Amino acid sequence: MKILLVDDDQLDREMVVRALNRSDLNAHISEAVTVDQGLEMYAANSYDMVLLDYQLPQRNGIEMILELRNETKDNSIAIVMMSSSEDEELSLACIRAGAQDFLLKSEISSVRLRRALIHASTRFELEKKLYNTYKKVKLLAETDSLTGLANRYYFDESLKQVLTLNTRSQQQTALLLFDLDNFKVVNDSFGHDVGDLLLKKVVLRIKSCLRGNETFARLGGDEFGIMLNDLSSSDQAGQVARRIVTVLHKPFEIASAFLQTTVSVGIAIFPENGKTSEVLFKHADIAMYRAKNNGRNQICFFEEEMQKKFYLRIKTEAELRVALVEQQLLLFYQPVINPENNQIVGFEALIRWQVGDELRTPDQFIDVAEETRLIVPIGEWVMEEAISTLARWNRKYNQVLTMAINVSAHQLCDRNFVEKLNSSLIKHKVPAELIDIEVTETALLKETEEARNALVAIDQLRCRLSLDDFGTGYSSVSHLRNYPISVMKIDKSLMPIDETDMKNIALVEGLVSMASILGLEIVAEGVETPYQVSLCNIFNITHVQGYFYSKPKRRKDIENEYLNNNVIYVDLMSENEDEH
Ligand code: C2E
Ligand code: CA
Ligand code: CA
Repeated sequence: MKILLVDDDQLDREMVVRALNRSDLNAHISEAVTVDQGLEMYAANSYDMVLLDYQLPQRNGIEMILELRNETKDNSIAIVMMSSSEDEELSLACIRAGAQDFLLKSEISSVRLRRALIHASTRFELEKKLYNTYKKVKLLAETDSLTGLANRYYFDESLKQVLTLNTRSQQQTALLLFDLDNFKVVNDSFGHDVGDLLLKKVVLRIKSCLRGNETFARLGGDEFGIMLNDLSSSDQAGQVARRIVTVLHKPFEIASAFLQTTVSVGIAIFPENGKTSEVLFKHADIAMYRAKNNGRNQICFFEEEMQKKFYLRIKTEAELRVALVEQQLLLFYQPVINPENNQIVGFEALIRWQVGDELRTPDQFIDVAEETRLIVPIGEWVMEEAISTLARWNRKYNQVLTMAINVSAHQLCDRNFVEKLNSSLIKHKVPAELIDIEVTETALLKETEEARNALVAIDQLRCRLSLDDFGTGYSSVSHLRNYPISVMKIDKSLMPIDETDMKNIALVEGLVSMASILGLEIVAEGVETPYQVSLCNIFNITHVQGYFYSKPKRRKDIENEYLNNNVIYVDLMSENEDEH
């Protein structure tokens, strides 16, 4: 028997060792003098028993018991406690904390010690068995034996718990209910064994398209539930539902037959569609009923507004795929001005989408493009188009203008991004220093290895990196220091309205001095009024963008209005035409 003896008193340890050696236990004894040393030895070796003194320096024996009992039962160990105190309360406290037996030091003899150790280890084995049985029963009570998923009981309890937690924070949670559209037919024509197999395969496939942080349960028969916590918007629930519907498109091969199954999904969102699990369930159920009624194999939100948004996203995605092929995307360019002399120093490329007569702005489609990763090919097109335009302008008008290009997180994570950027620069003979790559902090927050590598590579190409929309999101100074950023773009929401807007004035002033300390250039966005121009001049901001000077315009309009006339400044006497 391997025993860990923890006692700071050398004489007591010798007494215990002697008693053990006189017994027939064949004891291998390791000695520690403090709780911490004991825990260290316990972690590094394996023992059958801990023999523990109560009175120890720094931390007492009960603390050691508590730490050992913190381990899972499988990793835990039998403990016998020793003390010189006859205090009954103390001995009870030790047992409550998790010791199997308690010995008075004055009573220790070879026979007593042997008996205590054997009783303790038997008791411990029994406790362990009981614990394992409890675990098994718990598992049986909470899981569905066919699929291994959580069952209705567990799902209900979890949902209730999550809703209680979220009531204060009002954090959105989605409840998705769905069942297989043709399960009864499968059961009736192929038998229950095939039905069971189908359920199992369906579950595996659905699991493969979930992230793992969802609660996925079989609620009974062919009915399933998924709970999505920490939702950022109802769209996210729609995305998950779509993945589920899509992943079931391919038929299942079971017993050399090919079975096709579809699902109807109903979605209700907490707190908007129900504040309790009962109401949420009822509403998700109603939504599922609608999905079935509408012809099955589809997704329904309980709330009409959410449903509309969901359809719009699906429609936008489909149209966006066409847009790429049919070249409906185009770039507008907004001049970047030096407010001291109204000279144009460069441009920012801003995407637009022409569908017939309708001109769509990025807020109508960039989100969808990002979600569907269509932003990668779209972004490649933007980069090529913007660089080729800049090459043309600088050549034709003999200028050294700059071009800012917006890039999203997905693009940075795309392995070919930097290579494509580089080959565009070479192809159009544009010096890298003239290109500003604009990223937002949200993109930096993704902190993926690929994104970081891309930023470093962009910097090595000698393109400049701008941090866009500064002052709206996290605005963390560490991002400015940890990445090779050279430009800070102050978001338009920070632009002071007038001289009474003290808060924003102070903010901009603070940002200007921070940027100068960090050696960053500043670009102010959203400059709309003469007051804002004068403020930029006071703060020595040499690059500004905004409607005061010019809205974003088509390439030929920029050429006609500014570049052709060799007017590389904005003529404030002539009216700025509206872009849309
Ligand atoms: P952003 O990069 O912050 O672009 C500036 C936005 O402010 C543009 O909106 C611009 O039209 C608008 N703006 C410019 N001056 C003023 C002003 O004086 N007042 C006001 N109220 N607004 C002004 P836009 O063109 O609708 O673009 C919106 C966002 O879409 C951009 O914000 C950018 O994040 C994104 N975006 C645009 N083009 C691209 C692109 O090619 N790729 C990617 N990934 N994102 C893009
Ligand atoms: Ca931008
Ligand atoms: Ca911006």
